[in-house]
Amino acid sequence: MKKRENSSETENSGSQLARLKQQVNGKCAEILKLKQDNKQLNEQIKKLDKQVFDLYTLAQAGKTFTGNPDLRRLSEVFTSMVQDRLGIKKCALLLHDRNLKLYTVIKAHGLPHEVQENVQYKPAEGSLWQLIQAGEPFSVKDLSGELRLETVFRENNLQLLESTYWVPLKTKNYVVGILAVKKEALNEDELTFLTLLSSQAAVAFNSAFTYQTLEASRKELDKQMHLLAILYDVSKALHFIDTLSYFLSGMSMELTPAWRMLGGSGYLDEDKEANLRAKNHIEKIKKLARNNYYGHGYPVGGIQKITDAVIASMPERNVTIRKNEEVLKIISEAGRAVGIVTDQGRYNADIVIYSGFMKNLPSLISDVDSAYSKNLSKIRQTRTMVLWVGLKEKMPELSYIGSEIYYNTNTPYWAIPVSNYDPALAPKNKQLVGFSTTIREDDDQKQLKKLRNTIYKAIPGIKSLIEFEHIQVTIPEKAAITIDTYFPSPKSPVKGLYLVGTDTDIRSMGVTRASYSVLEALKFIQKDGFLQ
Ligand SMILES: Cc1cc2nc3c(=O)[nH]c(=O)nc-3n(C[C@H](O)[C@H](O)[C@H](O)COP(=O)(O)OP(=O)(O)OC[C@H]3O[C@@H](n4cnc5c(N)ncnc54)[C@H](O)[C@@H]3O)c2cc1C
Repeated sequence: MKKRENSSETENSGSQLARLKQQVNGKCAEILKLKQDNKQLNEQIKKLDKQVFDLYTLAQAGKTFTGNPDLRRLSEVFTSMVQDRLGIKKCALLLHDRNLKLYTVIKAHGLPHEVQENVQYKPAEGSLWQLIQAGEPFSVKDLSGELRLETVFRENNLQLLESTYWVPLKTKNYVVGILAVKKEALNEDELTFLTLLSSQAAVAFNSAFTYQTLEASRKELDKQMHLLAILYDVSKALHFIDTLSYFLSGMSMELTPAWRMLGGSGYLDEDKEANLRAKNHIEKIKKLARNNYYGHGYPVGGIQKITDAVIASMPERNVTIRKNEEVLKIISEAGRAVGIVTDQGRYNADIVIYSGFMKNLPSLISDVDSAYSKNLSKIRQTRTMVLWVGLKEKMPELSYIGSEIYYNTNTPYWAIPVSNYDPALAPKNKQLVGFSTTIREDDDQKQLKKLRNTIYKAIPGIKSLIEFEHIQVTIPEKAAITIDTYFPSPKSPVKGLYLVGTDTDIRSMGVTRASYSVLEALKFIQKDGFLQ
């Protein structure tokens, strides 16, 4: 009985042990599975971690790319990101050159220097271009590691890039660039990363291109504007010189000699330096441009006072002045001037001094030959209009001493407020001003209208202050000074006939020029023995 009991006890403990063993095995299997699950979980975490890092990198890339218009800097950032992410040393970025219509290397890492100069990809219809246009990363090598498109690579030196994968940088429909990388194999994550990063970079490069194009256009526009501003200033300066030429010589700047401009402005001694070449006058031209000249005067009592002074200087008994007689003829006998015929009678004389227009001389005397007459006919003259205005009250705009040239118009004027020099030339608190202009119109009335309008525009308010107007149309200088002009000598080809006036002397202007001519004629008269 006891023996049976013992054996059943043994049976019980055996089955318990088996159960326990089973339980232990089950637990071990569970632990193993947990371990496996844990490993998988760790791998997934690692993968997720990498994806998070990729996403973070891409987000950072977006920020870095945005608003960076420098292509070189962008290339540097982009390729460095690719290197970091793929853990590679060799890669290159090619960008599209819109002018050359090909792709050139802008940045290369781990490749020889000559890659930059020697590698170019000119797109041509074919498989490579098709692949690039698809916009997805692709392998350029087959499974055995051989180049798939060897001919295209050779023709464009693309093998120098040592690349295994190409990643197109494509916006909607424009391939901005191509990234070439060297890595034996790229996994799915790496390809996704490259695709996303490259599409971001494509937008950034495209914006940079647009910015650079706009910037280049802006710079070009600035340059053009600068040139235009210079041209505008030059044209204004030329317009001023042209206006001044008319006032100083009577003709345009094309016809006015440089020395005349300087002489007329007091920067050159016309007695000694007239006719010298313009290059000798550069320093003086500079002075003229800086303008600091104040040699302006006006005779007290008006211009009549000069005539009065001349008449007063003549010895009363020896001089007879006959006015309002027109000289019709200069009488010559045996090639010698012996008198004149006027509309009032004949006057015999030892010598004749002619001060009328030299152009008209051949019509008064028959003894001058045709060559001399032809030369005299070359003399050019300029008509001038002076609009004298009497103002009810003095204008602050016209309070200066000197003259003012208004040239910003087709009817330039030279204004001289003469009563500022001599208050007696206008009633108390009133003003007398002369506005003169050279007449370039055939119709004097039209010219007058233009001059009036210019004055009204230049000096607002003057119109209502005008009390009276006096208009003078004259030829103030009987010969304009031009580069091709002819000035006869004060000693005419006819014996005893001497010539004076502004068309016989080239120096200075107006009354001074007329005076120079008289001094010059006197020298000849003295030399010929008519004057002691
Ligand atoms: C409004 C105005 C302002 C001026 N301002 C100034 C100034 O501020 N400073 C300055 O230096 N100059 C000035 N001038 C210029 C100056 O008056 C002249 O340049 C100068 O008077 C010219 O002298 P001329 O001897 O050459 O000629 P004119 O003075 O013209 O003398 C020629 C004379 O010959 C007479 N004549 C011609 N033919 C005959 C004939 N067949 N029979 C008889 N007589 C004849 C004419 O009637 C005239 O009186 C001004 C001129 C004008 C019109």
